[in-house]
Amino acid sequence: MKILLATTNEGKVRELRQLLKDLDIEVLSLKDMDKKLEVEEDKETFLENAIKKATSYAKFYKLPVIAEDSGLEVDALNGLPGIYSARFFDIEFGKEVLKEIPENLSKDEKNNLKLLRLLENQTNRKARYKTTLVFYNFDYGILTEGVCEGQIAYRSEGNQGFGYDPIFIPEGYNKTMAQLTPEEKNKISHRGKAVSKLVEILKKVL
Ligand code: IMP
Repeated sequence: MKILLATTNEGKVRELRQLLKDLDIEVLSLKDMDKKLEVEEDKETFLENAIKKATSYAKFYKLPVIAEDSGLEVDALNGLPGIYSARFFDIEFGKEVLKEIPENLSKDEKNNLKLLRLLENQTNRKARYKTTLVFYNFDYGILTEGVCEGQIAYRSEGNQGFGYDPIFIPEGYNKTMAQLTPEEKNKISHRGKAVSKLVEILKKVL
């Protein structure tokens, strides 16, 4: 059986493949598909975006799909970046801190820098990663969720993982997510938890 992962994010594909390796399925990603389909993530919740991606890609490619939407919620910013996590640097909110940004930073580095600057002098650094995962195969859908609580660090450290990992310290650790091995991250991460739940259900129904 083939399942399509509805993402082009290399970091997510790497993690999802590792997490799904015990199932007897061939895991494809959008990068493996010749015909391209863009699905805009224009909804207001992780759930709505994940459902939109799962159903749109399944219909277009005629394959069962696993789609996920995820992001980082920071308490001191009332839950932002949230659904804007991937493009936090570009949104209007907080533009005033974007002076003297070094050139040739990656998109992830720009997002992280903006978040660190917005939290300068802020002692409440509580945050969490959230994932909503949707499996859709035309007969039925499965929905699972995962949360990973933590804090925003004062500076960036580590080079594993992706996205906000160099500035996210998971609860119970004194290092950032980007300083954990991929196996350590998968055990505690929002995505790891959501996928483990999905795998348990798929083992029963596939
Ligand atoms: P989207 O689900 O493709 O809209 O993107 C979610 C965004 O949330 C990513 O581009 C990252 O910025 C952030 N994100 C989600 N999961 C993680 C993670 O495990 N580590 C770091 N950042 C993440």
